[in-house]
Amino acid sequence: MLSEKLTSCGIADTTDIQTSWPSEERLKKGPVVIVECFQEIPCNPCETSCPRNAIVVGVNINDLPKVDHNKCNGCTVCVSRCPGLAIFVIDQNYSPTESTITMPYEFLPLPQKGDMVDALDRAGEKCCRAKAIKVVNTKAQGKTPLVTLAIPRGMEKSVRFFKMVS
Ligand code: SF4
Ligand code: SF4
Repeated sequence: MLSEKLTSCGIADTTDIQTSWPSEERLKKGPVVIVECFQEIPCNPCETSCPRNAIVVGVNINDLPKVDHNKCNGCTVCVSRCPGLAIFVIDQNYSPTESTITMPYEFLPLPQKGDMVDALDRAGEKCCRAKAIKVVNTKAQGKTPLVTLAIPRGMEKSVRFFKMVS
Protein backbone atom coordinates (compact mmCIF):
# COMPACT_ATOMS: atom_id res chain seq x y z
CA MET A 1 0.00 0.00 0.00
CA LEU A 2 1.35 3.40 -1.00
CA SER A 3 1.91 6.07 1.64
CA GLU A 4 -0.32 9.13 1.71
CA LYS A 5 2.72 11.27 0.94
CA LEU A 6 3.40 9.31 -2.24
CA THR A 7 -0.20 9.38 -3.45
CA SER A 8 -0.72 13.05 -2.61
CA CYS A 9 2.52 14.63 -3.81
CA GLY A 10 4.50 11.90 -5.54
CA ILE A 11 7.31 11.74 -2.97
CA ALA A 12 8.07 8.35 -1.48
CA ASP A 13 8.30 8.22 2.31
CA THR A 14 10.19 5.78 4.49
CA THR A 15 7.48 3.11 4.33
CA ASP A 16 7.50 3.16 0.52
CA ILE A 17 11.29 3.12 0.41
CA GLN A 18 11.50 0.16 2.77
CA THR A 19 9.56 -2.02 0.32
CA SER A 20 12.37 -1.68 -2.25
CA TRP A 21 15.32 -1.81 0.13
CA PRO A 22 17.78 -4.74 0.17
CA SER A 23 18.66 -6.59 3.35
CA GLU A 24 21.62 -5.38 5.41
CA GLU A 25 23.33 -8.67 4.63
CA ARG A 26 23.03 -8.02 0.86
CA LEU A 27 24.14 -4.39 1.19
CA LYS A 28 27.34 -5.52 2.88
CA LYS A 29 28.23 -7.64 -0.17
CA GLY A 30 28.62 -4.70 -2.56
CA PRO A 31 26.73 -2.70 -5.21
CA VAL A 32 23.05 -3.52 -5.50
CA VAL A 33 20.06 -2.19 -7.37
CA ILE A 34 17.33 -0.08 -5.79
CA VAL A 35 14.09 -0.02 -7.79
CA GLU A 36 11.77 2.75 -6.66
CA CYS A 37 8.86 1.97 -8.95
CA PHE A 38 5.68 2.25 -6.92
CA GLN A 39 2.85 2.66 -9.39
CA GLU A 40 1.38 0.08 -11.74
CA ILE A 41 2.15 1.15 -15.29
CA PRO A 42 2.60 -0.85 -18.52
CA CYS A 43 6.40 -0.98 -18.54
CA ASN A 44 9.13 -3.59 -18.30
CA PRO A 45 12.57 -2.49 -19.68
CA CYS A 46 13.98 -3.18 -16.22
CA GLU A 47 13.09 -6.82 -16.68
CA THR A 48 14.19 -7.19 -20.29
CA SER A 49 17.52 -5.37 -19.78
CA CYS A 50 18.78 -7.30 -16.75
CA PRO A 51 21.28 -9.97 -17.80
CA ARG A 52 20.86 -11.80 -14.48
CA ASN A 53 17.05 -11.94 -14.36
CA ALA A 54 17.14 -10.06 -11.09
CA ILE A 55 14.05 -8.00 -11.96
CA VAL A 56 10.75 -9.58 -12.96
CA VAL A 57 7.58 -7.80 -14.05
CA GLY A 58 6.00 -10.92 -15.48
CA VAL A 59 3.12 -11.70 -17.82
CA ASN A 60 1.00 -8.77 -16.71
CA ILE A 61 3.07 -5.81 -17.86
CA ASN A 62 1.17 -3.56 -15.44
CA ASP A 63 2.51 -5.42 -12.42
CA LEU A 64 5.16 -3.80 -10.24
CA PRO A 65 8.72 -5.09 -10.77
CA LYS A 66 9.89 -7.65 -8.23
CA VAL A 67 13.59 -7.59 -7.41
CA ASP A 68 15.79 -10.44 -6.26
CA HIS A 69 18.66 -8.48 -4.75
CA ASN A 70 20.70 -11.64 -4.37
CA LYS A 71 20.76 -12.14 -8.16
CA CYS A 72 21.84 -8.52 -8.79
CA ASN A 73 25.54 -7.72 -9.05
CA GLY A 74 25.05 -3.95 -9.36
CA CYS A 75 26.14 -3.81 -13.01
CA THR A 76 23.96 -0.65 -13.60
CA VAL A 77 22.68 -1.81 -17.01
CA CYS A 78 19.05 -1.34 -15.99
CA VAL A 79 19.57 2.17 -14.60
CA SER A 80 19.72 3.93 -17.96
CA ARG A 81 16.99 1.71 -19.45
CA CYS A 82 14.26 2.74 -17.03
CA PRO A 83 12.07 5.44 -18.63
CA GLY A 84 10.78 6.38 -15.19
CA LEU A 85 14.30 7.15 -13.89
CA ALA A 86 13.31 4.98 -10.96
CA ILE A 87 16.38 2.75 -10.68
CA PHE A 88 19.58 3.40 -8.72
CA VAL A 89 22.58 1.34 -7.67
CA ILE A 90 23.98 1.78 -4.17
CA ASP A 91 27.31 0.61 -2.82
CA GLN A 92 27.78 0.97 0.91
CA ASN A 93 31.33 -0.36 0.75
CA TYR A 94 33.00 2.49 -1.15
CA SER A 95 35.03 3.73 1.83
CA PRO A 96 34.80 3.65 5.63
CA THR A 97 32.85 6.92 5.59
CA GLU A 98 31.20 7.09 2.17
CA SER A 99 28.80 5.16 0.00
CA THR A 100 28.11 5.58 -3.69
CA ILE A 101 24.90 6.02 -5.61
CA THR A 102 24.69 5.62 -9.37
CA MET A 103 21.80 7.47 -10.93
CA PRO A 104 20.41 8.42 -14.36
CA TYR A 105 21.11 12.03 -15.32
CA GLU A 106 19.51 13.54 -18.44
CA PHE A 107 20.69 17.14 -18.13
CA LEU A 108 23.54 19.16 -19.56
CA PRO A 109 26.22 19.91 -18.77
CA LEU A 110 27.25 16.59 -17.34
CA PRO A 111 29.52 16.81 -14.32
CA GLN A 112 33.15 15.84 -14.71
CA LYS A 113 34.82 13.23 -12.56
CA GLY A 114 35.96 14.95 -9.38
CA ASP A 115 33.34 17.72 -9.42
CA MET A 116 31.65 18.57 -6.13
CA VAL A 117 27.87 18.89 -6.39
CA ASP A 118 24.88 19.49 -4.12
CA ALA A 119 23.07 16.21 -3.55
CA LEU A 120 19.27 16.56 -3.49
CA ASP A 121 16.56 14.48 -1.87
CA ARG A 122 13.30 13.36 -3.48
CA ALA A 123 11.73 16.74 -2.80
CA GLY A 124 14.60 18.54 -4.53
CA GLU A 125 16.04 19.86 -1.27
CA LYS A 126 19.78 19.88 -0.71
CA CYS A 127 20.70 17.15 1.75
CA CYS A 128 24.50 16.96 1.54
CA ARG A 129 27.55 17.58 -0.60
CA ALA A 130 28.68 14.86 -2.95
CA LYS A 131 31.53 14.13 -5.31
CA ALA A 132 31.09 12.85 -8.86
CA ILE A 133 33.41 9.85 -9.06
CA LYS A 134 32.25 8.36 -12.36
CA VAL A 135 30.35 9.61 -15.40
CA VAL A 136 29.38 7.11 -18.10
CA ASN A 137 27.96 8.38 -21.37
CA THR A 138 28.45 5.84 -24.15
CA LYS A 139 26.17 4.49 -26.84
CA ALA A 140 25.06 1.79 -24.42
CA GLN A 141 23.39 4.37 -22.17
CA GLY A 142 21.40 5.87 -25.05
CA LYS A 143 20.41 9.37 -24.00
CA THR A 144 20.53 8.57 -20.30
CA PRO A 145 24.08 8.96 -18.95
CA LEU A 146 24.95 7.52 -15.57
CA VAL A 147 26.53 9.56 -12.80
CA THR A 148 28.00 7.95 -9.70
CA LEU A 149 28.29 10.13 -6.60
CA ALA A 150 30.25 9.51 -3.43
CA ILE A 151 27.96 10.50 -0.56
CA PRO A 152 28.35 10.50 3.22
CA ARG A 153 27.51 7.12 4.80
CA GLY A 154 23.93 7.16 6.01
CA MET A 155 22.57 9.25 3.12
CA GLU A 156 21.83 6.29 0.82
CA LYS A 157 18.07 6.46 1.37
CA SER A 158 17.93 10.23 0.91
CA VAL A 159 20.05 11.22 -2.09
CA ARG A 160 18.23 10.79 -5.40
CA PHE A 161 19.45 13.66 -7.58
CA PHE A 162 21.97 16.46 -7.60
CA LYS A 163 22.58 20.02 -8.68
CA MET A 164 25.73 21.33 -10.27
CA VAL A 165 27.39 24.13 -8.34
CA SER A 166 29.69 26.76 -9.74
S1 SF4 B 1 22.08 -3.61 -11.69
FE1 SF4 B 1 22.49 -5.16 -13.30
S2 SF4 B 1 22.19 -7.14 -12.30
FE2 SF4 B 1 21.27 -5.58 -10.98
S3 SF4 B 1 19.12 -5.54 -11.57
FE3 SF4 B 1 20.15 -3.97 -12.79
S4 SF4 B 1 20.74 -4.98 -14.71
FE4 SF4 B 1 20.23 -6.58 -13.22
S1 SF4 C 1 11.52 0.13 -16.31
FE1 SF4 C 1 11.43 1.55 -14.59
S2 SF4 C 1 9.39 2.53 -14.70
FE2 SF4 C 1 9.35 0.68 -16.02
S3 SF4 C 1 8.53 -0.93 -14.65
FE3 SF4 C 1 10.78 -1.03 -14.55
S4 SF4 C 1 11.34 0.24 -12.77
FE4 SF4 C 1 9.21 0.75 -13.34
